[in-house]
Amino acid sequence: LVEWKKDMEELVGEKVFLVDEKTRDKLSKDYFWYSPVLDAELKNKVADGVCKPSTEEEVAQILSFAYERRIPITTRGAGTGNYGQAVPLEGGILLDLSQLNTIIEVGEGYADVQCGVKLGRLEKELREKGQELCIYPSTYVKATAGGFFSGGSGGIGSITWGSVWDGNIIEAVIYTLEAKPRRLVVSGEELDAYIHNYGTSGIMTQLKMRTAPKTEWEQVIVQFADMENMLLFTEKLSKDPTIKKRLVSGAEPPISSYFTPLLNYYEEGSSVALLEVEEENLEEIKGLADEFQGSIVHVIDAEAYHKQMGLSDFTWNHTTLWALKYDPELTYLQCGFSNSHYLDQIQNIKNKFPREVFIHVEWMLANGEIRLGSLPIIQYKSKERLYEIIDYLESIGVSVNDPHTFLLPRDKNGYFEKILEKKKINDPLDLLNPGKLSMALK
Ligand code: FAD
Repeated sequence: LVEWKKDMEELVGEKVFLVDEKTRDKLSKDYFWYSPVLDAELKNKVADGVCKPSTEEEVAQILSFAYERRIPITTRGAGTGNYGQAVPLEGGILLDLSQLNTIIEVGEGYADVQCGVKLGRLEKELREKGQELCIYPSTYVKATAGGFFSGGSGGIGSITWGSVWDGNIIEAVIYTLEAKPRRLVVSGEELDAYIHNYGTSGIMTQLKMRTAPKTEWEQVIVQFADMENMLLFTEKLSKDPTIKKRLVSGAEPPISSYFTPLLNYYEEGSSVALLEVEEENLEEIKGLADEFQGSIVHVIDAEAYHKQMGLSDFTWNHTTLWALKYDPELTYLQCGFSNSHYLDQIQNIKNKFPREVFIHVEWMLANGEIRLGSLPIIQYKSKERLYEIIDYLESIGVSVNDPHTFLLPRDKNGYFEKILEKKKINDPLDLLNPGKLSMALK
């Protein structure tokens, strides 16, 4: 071990290869601690060394060295993932790609960037040029472009543009882990083998992302006395093609009371909808809110967009962050409800777990349909109880993406199999983020 470290330092220099304990500890962690289950499993995992390349050539050198010496490589963007995706389970090298951060080209409908570009910086630059990102996670200020497409799923914008699998990445440069790492330029369906792969089937150094013309977004809070009306309002708004929107999120109490910076705007015990809509649509929103006995209680003008804390800071998995600030014993799940009977499903859950499961929803486009996604907040009691809740949800037809495992999930669309197939070719020694697909490889 000592020897490979010396050789690595000689190869790339001590500015690129870091071995001090503090750096290794810090960069070996992501936000897995959101899950009490993962926290117990992952908190002591540490890489043997960190590589911070700033060119593709350095990436290739490091990968070739890792192949020759059989050293595991775990890739990291900004380390904001929630499932321990970027935690090195078997030590080895933590490959931090945050220095590959050049915005290469912005054109009509696309941004071509290196993987380490932060999405907040990219969104700002795009908006200055009359465009904007189609989708981005609520962690956009820190999260990297490569990390989002390799480990995220969707977020702000998904109501209109879908998820990471819906054409929001146009092309990617991928490196393989072989004696002579290959540089692949991948597009179309071939991208399926690299999206949300946790860096297991190849390393993405550059990507061309889809962008849209810039819109002036107004942020709106709508208050409701009950959850059902909030759900029906957000459904109708989501399905209304005449209103342009970037975010349609909703939360019932007590979740709404965790959003402390917003509490001046609505009454305690309300359900709230948090929206980003095109500024000229306010009258329509008001009419729609009236229909469901809701009232607009706060509007943030378009000029303030992204210049101060915004409503998206309370949506997607930021909702869980506010819950955890309120009570560290809270945790979360990731679910998809049925389009035809989501209200029944939610009512059943409320009846079965009245003090354990609280509803937070995100409407989004998925497979060409507007669907109800949810990151419900869970009062955590034990791992056994958590899985009892998951079993119940699945028994009533709610799909659950378990956020309490670091294993890459199997999916219904066959993406997992495509990732596995490419991994066998691109990473024959199973050195890329080993352990995250381990069940499948055995
Ligand atoms: P990392 O965490 O560094 O990496 C993610 C995964 O991708 C890891 O497995 C890593 O090994 C791999 N990886 C990173 N870069 C590369 C690369 N260049 N090539 C190959 N593999 C790579 N996610 C969402 O999808 N939507 C949300 O709205 C959202 N909200 C969040 C809110 C909070 C408060 C938190 C803590 C997390 C949230 N997340 C969300 C999860 C996460 O922030 C996003 O998925 C984010 O895009 C990850 O980017 P990152 O640069 O931090 O990636």
